[in-house]
Amino acid sequence: MDRVRELQDKIIKLKKEKGITILAHSYQSKEILEVADYTGDSYALSVSATKAPHDTILMCGVHFMAETVKLLSPHKKVILANPEAGCNMANQIEPEFVEYFKKHNPGYTVVCYINTTAATKTVCDVCVTSSSAVRIVERIENDNILFLPDRNLGAYVQSKVKSKNIQLFQGCCPIHAVVDVNDVKKARELHKDALLLVHPECDPKVVEMADYVGSTSGIMEYARKSDAKEFIIGTELNIAEVLAFEMPEKNFYLLSQKLICPNMRITSLVDVYKAMTGEGGLVIEMDEDTIKKARRCIDEMIRLGG
Ligand code: SF4
Repeated sequence: MDRVRELQDKIIKLKKEKGITILAHSYQSKEILEVADYTGDSYALSVSATKAPHDTILMCGVHFMAETVKLLSPHKKVILANPEAGCNMANQIEPEFVEYFKKHNPGYTVVCYINTTAATKTVCDVCVTSSSAVRIVERIENDNILFLPDRNLGAYVQSKVKSKNIQLFQGCCPIHAVVDVNDVKKARELHKDALLLVHPECDPKVVEMADYVGSTSGIMEYARKSDAKEFIIGTELNIAEVLAFEMPEKNFYLLSQKLICPNMRITSLVDVYKAMTGEGGLVIEMDEDTIKKARRCIDEMIRLGG
């Protein structure tokens, strides 16, 4: 038996013995996705955690995702498999900026992407995911909006909700934002019949050239349902790999080699194992006030997005 399979078996045994549910974001490695109880994007995973039978949740993803799980399941023990796994976009904004903006712009509704820390969520009005952002901003009972931290997702929302005054914080995902028009031209030249599917965290010029724009789950669903045989994938490498594995009859090409997120790749199967045995991992601790305030932002997302 190979070493990976051996470790996977130990993890599966430990899950049962210790009563642990494993969540893995779709950007995680195939070896981790195989041992997970739930896979998907960050919000879908948080909802799954609320329904999980176990009181201990192990999150294989980045820090803000584990925090979101804790916000939705405050009485459960939530462990981040690799304590070093942060998100460079979530860390670009501090709650103090939001407080300063609100003080000087009292008429604005502050909308934050789910890719923010729990501390930032405590001072925002409503949270969105990449798949619900347009719908929620349309439904907010205010025409003056500050969207943060991702300027590209914010610009995508602006292009769809033209009737509102949407100001953008100038943050971005450093992985998606660096893909440019030349990358699209090159990929299109190489794969003339392929459809281009991109995440709205990409630059607006890249988004404009796409055949489909959507969240990670949206891209995966589109590729599954489409009759097309070839796709250029404009989001993290692992999505292209997972799709290729799932549908060997179709061809998936990564839009650019820049689309590799080190934070998403930092978690290994060994980290998962050590987090379960108590030798590693990070238990997410959050005070009641943070939970209450940040949770309000998520509850508002559920109310408006439903
Ligand atoms: S790809 Fe990486 S840096 Fe970008 S939003 Fe996701 S976790 Fe953050």
